Amino acid sequence: SESGNTYYRVVLIGEHGVGKSTLASIFAGVPDSLDKNTYERTLMVDGESATLILIDIASFEKASELRIQLRRARQTEDIPIILVGNKSDLVRCREVSISEGRACAVVFDCKFIETSAAVQHNVKELFEGIVRQVRLRRDSK
Ligand code: GDP
Ligand code: MG
Repeated sequence: SESGNTYYRVVLIGEHGVGKSTLASIFAGVPDSLDKNTYERTLMVDGESATLILIDIASFEKASELRIQLRRARQTEDIPIILVGNKSDLVRCREVSISEGRACAVVFDCKFIETSAAVQHNVKELFEGIVRQVRLRRDSK
């Protein structure tokens, strides 16, 4: 509704250790804890209130395999996907170049963003981007 708040369910998937829990806890403004797997934050995005429920699931799959599985599982539903390259602060041990990340997103047919939970770079922008992607699909219906 126009005056109300909208809920967005966001699932964080990716290999162990990539920084999912850290990104979620930074965004939600709570300490990272091992037993926590959902995080919540309400914020304004483009003048509209949004509550993001972040579901942090343990995954043992690489992004490429996850993309294939997502496409299979959601063939009929156009769910927005954002490919996240976290730990951008670790410049000297970068494993994926920006151009590789971008190329990967083209293949996956999704958005791409580089973040650093450690230095809090692009964390809010990532989640705002998710809200915008969902709204774009909603508004084009
Ligand atoms: P998860 O298994 O995907 O939930 O990964 P975690 O959030 O537990 O992070 C794994 C490790 O990477 C932890 O030691 C974090 O402190 C570290 N980490 C997470 N994000 C970043 C980041 O942006 N930069 C750096 N340098 N370390 C990070
Ligand atoms: Mg975790």
